[in-house]
Amino acid sequence: MAEKNLKFVCPDCSGKKLIQAQSVMKGYEVEELDPDGYVITGDEELDLDTLETDTTFYYCCADCDYIPEDDDGNPISEDADIIEWVKANCSQE
Ligand SMILES: [Zn+2]
Repeated sequence: MAEKNLKFVCPDCSGKKLIQAQSVMKGYEVEELDPDGYVITGDEELDLDTLETDTTFYYCCADCDYIPEDDDGNPISEDADIIEWVKANCSQE
């Protein structure tokens, strides 16, 4: 355990609440493929958890939806990366 936790400070709005957002791929069984152009699915939500890469995480500010990005402009999703980002971008005073 670290002595002191890091503080998130949003560069845009100075908000201090960081959200870990999770986007999970859900699936619905296709029940009918209507030749007129309709696809009808069942109501049951199927977790496609066999496709692990389809669960994505990203972090965002709770107040303004600011999304910390890595050097390549991709939303940060790894624990270690968000910690590095906070160290580099948020004042710990
Ligand atoms: Zn913000």
